[in-house]
Amino acid sequence: MAKPGRITVKTPLVEMDGDEMTRIMWKMVKDKLLLPHLDITLDYYDLHVKHRDDTDDQVTVDAARAIMKYGVGVKCATITPNEDRVREYSLKKAWRSPNGTIRAMLDGTVFRKPILVSNIHPVVSSWKKPITIGRHAYGDVYNNTEMEIPGRGMAEIVFTPTDGGEPLRKTIMEFSGPGICQGIHNTDESIRSFARACFTFALDQKIDLWFSTKDTISKIYDARFREIFATEYEESWRDKFAKAGIEYFFTLIDDAVARIIKSEGGMLWALKNYDGDVMSDMIASANGSLAMMTSVLVSPRGYFEYEAAHGTVQKHYYKHLKGEETSSNSMALIFAWSGALCKRGELDETPAVVDFARRLEEAALETVEAGVMTGDLLLIAEKRPENRKVNTEQFIDAIAARLSVKLA
Ligand code: NAP
Ligand code: MG
Repeated sequence: MAKPGRITVKTPLVEMDGDEMTRIMWKMVKDKLLLPHLDITLDYYDLHVKHRDDTDDQVTVDAARAIMKYGVGVKCATITPNEDRVREYSLKKAWRSPNGTIRAMLDGTVFRKPILVSNIHPVVSSWKKPITIGRHAYGDVYNNTEMEIPGRGMAEIVFTPTDGGEPLRKTIMEFSGPGICQGIHNTDESIRSFARACFTFALDQKIDLWFSTKDTISKIYDARFREIFATEYEESWRDKFAKAGIEYFFTLIDDAVARIIKSEGGMLWALKNYDGDVMSDMIASANGSLAMMTSVLVSPRGYFEYEAAHGTVQKHYYKHLKGEETSSNSMALIFAWSGALCKRGELDETPAVVDFARRLEEAALETVEAGVMTGDLLLIAEKRPENRKVNTEQFIDAIAARLSVKLA
């Protein structure tokens, strides 16, 4: 039975709890911004590092399966254990990154988009709308094989067919002295998934899609990326894009960089693995703060997982444990929830849920624009007399107050 005055979310939403400071903020966001207003079933998975350890990481796999069942999930930041963390939490081993596990199961592409407010200006003054980066998270230099060349000799690249036939070989270089060489790869299947995720995301957001490689130089490798994108577009997306009034645009990576800097933003920029790694950090820092960056994993099979782009804010958590006041920014976590709720509402065809998500975002943006902000933002915002630094909880309380007014 729906509780009076609350908005009903029809389908369960998959919730993945996390670690450290983000876990603290996560609970506050739920208790103060969501649960007072929503009738919602949360399919809850506790990805706290200790619980992942207790379940031999089965909980992460279960969470990914739940996203495949229901379609939409929202995830808190989680510790990716290294040796220090194994000691800190007495873990059985350094488990894989949960994001890596989930991404592999959903076969997804990650899209990162800055959250813009009127009183924080991107370093690039022409940017008026957010630039979203879609990074291909497979292959290239991230799965490379490298070799030190000790001296004179020939380096070759060889492919040996499993099902018989002559090996294919090409000379890389006739070395006349010491040097280095490297082998990289990608697969048509992974590139196609990436292309589909990018077309899906651009259409979902109704924004232009830009894709760029260096196919004039890399006439087989980068050219394959370009061909697969072009084929996907012609076969499955041209009509849908025309109907939505958006464009697909391919250009060389260096031309794209020059155009992006002069653009007003507002596009999805799809990039190969390395280009995406570099450019997403450039876009993030040009916009001021990691806490003002959202991240969504889109699978070509139509699953969506929303999260913040930042980590668990470990340093703030240690301060919190010592009883010191923190001023951690929950914007990206709030936008992870609003993104997930908006998508849930769209899929369920429940406009009230979409509307709630929009109001939640407005309340959060207006709070910062009114000068109420956490320490990270105070450093980069326009200097105004009304600016006031608040602590972690006060920030969420201020948003909650605005939200209640909006919903009344
Ligand atoms: P981080 O959590 O992103 O924090 C790095 C620094 O960025 C913080 O110390 C803080 O700077 C600033 N910052 C990030 N988010 C902020 C927020 N919401 N509000 C205010 N300031 C914020 O990265 P990390 O400390 O390198 O990593 C901590 C843990 O997060 C690691 O165990 C890592 O495995 C994990 N991690 C998880 C994910 C994920 O789940 N998606 C992603 C990345 C990292 P100041 O200290 O200067 O205030
Ligand atoms: Mg990077």
